[in-house]
Amino acid sequence: MPFKPEIVAPGGNLEKALIALDYGADAVYLAGKAFGLRKSAENFTETELALIISKARDMGRNIYVTLNGFAHNEDIAALPEFLDMLNRVQPMACIVSDFGVANCVKTHTSIPIHTSTQASITNAYAAQLWKDLGAKRVVTARELSIEECARIKRDVGIEVETFIHGAMCASYSGKCTISNYTSGRDSNRGGCVQSCRHPFRMTDENPAESDETGITAHIMNAKDLGAIDQVKRCIEFEIDALKIEGRMKSNLYVANAVNTYRTLLDESHDLKTAREQINAVSNREFSNGFLEQHNGSEAISFDWNGYQKGVQFIGTIKQAVGESYLIQVKSPTPVSTPFMAISPGCALAPITITGAEDLNHDAISELAPNSCAIIRTSRPLGQNSIIVKAVS
Ligand code: SF4
Repeated sequence: MPFKPEIVAPGGNLEKALIALDYGADAVYLAGKAFGLRKSAENFTETELALIISKARDMGRNIYVTLNGFAHNEDIAALPEFLDMLNRVQPMACIVSDFGVANCVKTHTSIPIHTSTQASITNAYAAQLWKDLGAKRVVTARELSIEECARIKRDVGIEVETFIHGAMCASYSGKCTISNYTSGRDSNRGGCVQSCRHPFRMTDENPAESDETGITAHIMNAKDLGAIDQVKRCIEFEIDALKIEGRMKSNLYVANAVNTYRTLLDESHDLKTAREQINAVSNREFSNGFLEQHNGSEAISFDWNGYQKGVQFIGTIKQAVGESYLIQVKSPTPVSTPFMAISPGCALAPITITGAEDLNHDAISELAPNSCAIIRTSRPLGQNSIIVKAVS
């Protein structure tokens, strides 16, 4: 069978993790209520973890729990109790950055360890050290090319995972203290407030020697990583896993990103369709990060005008009701709007809502925000299909 990397998708909450699995993620990474580096995401209770792990196991997929903060002494004191909980639910791996956390996971559990990108592994010696400590996989530093990742795999004999999609930032593999200084929140313990995304004003200290009076620009606003064109090389170099960033992103983002890379890897869509598909949903400008060459100023969006937005999220199909569908509506819109829908394995394509009623079966002409409705559509949909409309 031809080599195919694992797609590792973000699961910010239970709904998003289920969407990621439905759209074809081989693995979902997510966090419990502590230690997960995304304090603002909803994250998972023990009950939810047990549910998603059981569901993934039934589907032959994987759930990886992130414990990737840099723990201080007062943080790590609570870790054994958290690991007792993980021992009960048995995820397929823990993702760690900190040697202390790794040591604690190794001592208290037999759960496999993946080393997080925050560990900034850039060479074979570092990867070998983590392998000697028991790591099964390293998620390499974001600053490595595909060839550099492949060389680590070859030299060390360890699984390698690289980021292929999502937000990049100006820090070194996510290690950053800007938010500590600007807002008193620690990025390395889950508190990043994205201070780097603001515009900064630069002035010349010697104005007499220059015509410049200063400029204001988004000097640290890294473009998003989008590696549609690099997937083929990742396969050629046998990179074991391709990671999509975005535990804080929307259901639509997760569905569309997973769908795009899934259909590309399965060769059910070509590169052109994949590019159109990935560009259809809200994003910053894309660059291919460091996957082919080391980044320069071309990977920064200096003139930031907000997200590029091709479509607006309207709602998610929760289940079939006879030949109709129960939709959970997020944004209000007339039923007569020209819609598009995305479903597992199918790119965004036009769809018509041919009839709609509320839960009392009274006909409606508007989909109300934060409500549920029953709709009939011009073509079949599945659970977790997502309805959107174009924005100009
Ligand atoms: S403040 Fe910006 S550079 Fe620092 S971790 Fe957050 S997103 Fe990255």
